Amino acid sequence: MISDIKRTIVVTGGSKGIGRAICKAFAAPGVGVYFNFNSPETTGQDTAEEISAAGGIPKGMRVDVASETEITDFFKTVLDETGRIDVLVNNAGITKDTLLLRMKEKDWDDVIRVNLKGTFNCTKIAAKAMLKQRYGRIINITSIAGVAGNPGQANYAASKAGIIGLTKTVAKELGSRGVTANAIAPGFIRTDMTAGLSEKAASDIIAQIPLGRAGTPEDIAGVALFLASKSADYITGQVIHVNGGMYT
Ligand code: NAP
Repeated sequence: MISDIKRTIVVTGGSKGIGRAICKAFAAPGVGVYFNFNSPETTGQDTAEEISAAGGIPKGMRVDVASETEITDFFKTVLDETGRIDVLVNNAGITKDTLLLRMKEKDWDDVIRVNLKGTFNCTKIAAKAMLKQRYGRIINITSIAGVAGNPGQANYAASKAGIIGLTKTVAKELGSRGVTANAIAPGFIRTDMTAGLSEKAASDIIAQIPLGRAGTPEDIAGVALFLASKSADYITGQVIHVNGGMYT
């Protein structure tokens, strides 16, 4: 047990982008920030350094959220070391975009496995600890695509719509025991996930955003922090749209 940890936060996909900003936002003295990532070349060192700089206690691990075995081991480490899970942010996600008629079975399966099954795997294990504690905050990162649909993203949009159904169900099942579950639906956020878009495609998207700019990972992290705060104690089963007005 790491004795100076007073609060434990778990963030999936914390090595970069939105997940990394969430890890940094939650980092504070006495907070254990556990995060994971999956690529063999990722170390998670940048995230760990940012957490430490804010006084938090970081631990990054290579774990595939879609693997029940790996996720079970990951949460065992968290619980062995800290004895609790206060906040779970299901953020890990991938895209394999192509139009429906060209979409291969593998493109479909890979995205559903990581985005939707990964969220289920982590939520199920964390929920057990949260129920015992009679406290927990589950925050799932869905997407504007999950509510509005998006050409070329049938797999991704379906996975993100599934996350919304999962969130609302978990909110109903766990609410009576002090556990809330909410989703954040980001719009267009500048990260590696969107870096493949041409500047023309990006500026076409930005032209549809009333606030006139792409979102930043910090725009999402701030809302995650709010949903885990005391101010959000009476909010559960909701989807919070953070998209600059792109979808209302
Ligand atoms: P990103 O920069 O590509 O980061 C994705 C993160 O997920 C990385 O840390 C990655 O780690 C991790 N990851 C991928 N597969 C994983 C797996 N199987 N197990 C564990 N970790 C895994 O993407 P992002 O833009 O920050 O996206 C974060 C979340 O926001 C995703 O759920 C995404 O769908 C959602 N979102 C993003 C946008 C946007 O515009 N960017 C909009 C709406 C929703 P490694 O690569 O190091 O393995």
